[in-house]
Amino acid sequence: MNDEQLLRYSRQIMLPQLDVAGQQRLLGSHALIIGMGGLGSPVAMYLAAAGVGRLTLVDFDTVDLSNLQRQILHGSDDIGRPKVESAREALAALNPEVVVSTVNRKLEGPALLEAIAGADVVIDASDNFTTRFAINDACVEARKPLVSGAAIRMEGQVSVFHNEREESPCYRCLYRDEGELEQTCSENGVLAPVVGVIGALQATEALKVLAGIGETLGGRLLLWDAMTMEWRSLKLRKDPACPCCGAA
Ligand SMILES: [Zn+2]
Repeated sequence: MNDEQLLRYSRQIMLPQLDVAGQQRLLGSHALIIGMGGLGSPVAMYLAAAGVGRLTLVDFDTVDLSNLQRQILHGSDDIGRPKVESAREALAALNPEVVVSTVNRKLEGPALLEAIAGADVVIDASDNFTTRFAINDACVEARKPLVSGAAIRMEGQVSVFHNEREESPCYRCLYRDEGELEQTCSENGVLAPVVGVIGALQATEALKVLAGIGETLGGRLLLWDAMTMEWRSLKLRKDPACPCCGAA
């Protein structure tokens, strides 16, 4: 690290758990963020600010006026632009050192698997179950850690799936049926900072995974109710009959 980097990341390097070695690990890391909306905005901003060396941003959508209430990477002048372009510009202003790649289309099949295989951590900041399941399956196949988050109305949840470890449950051990669970912010609404809180938690977990510090939410599902400010943590177990990671 040069003097400027030592100064930029000084408040992080100060942390005994992270130190210079941990910051070096972050600088040498590559995070894949799928979704540049309400969750992806704070995730990408915090990972860039914290000095994760390489970010790959995936989104096929363009910025809409109704996004701006919560998708803080994008501004009024970005309406109509691809979200990944708007995001790339905002992140470059925040930390020009970070190498940002963008994918302005829906990643599926072998292309999704390839993108995931090339990352050190995957952050699911998508808003639908079809995408969440596809990301999970590819992460299990490529054995990559997945930081999962969801927020809607006044509630949110976060977990980490350590697919690089044999004993870890996967997202499908938790959710099977996409039909009854499909809900979106466009239909149900969401309070602006609720996605910010969940995205910030996802960023925290991704940094811990990349730096190799602390105890992650692996094997736990953290649930938050913003109406009552109550947090709950549920234990997750690997399901031997899971269609994705199970023995069969
Ligand atoms: Zn599973």
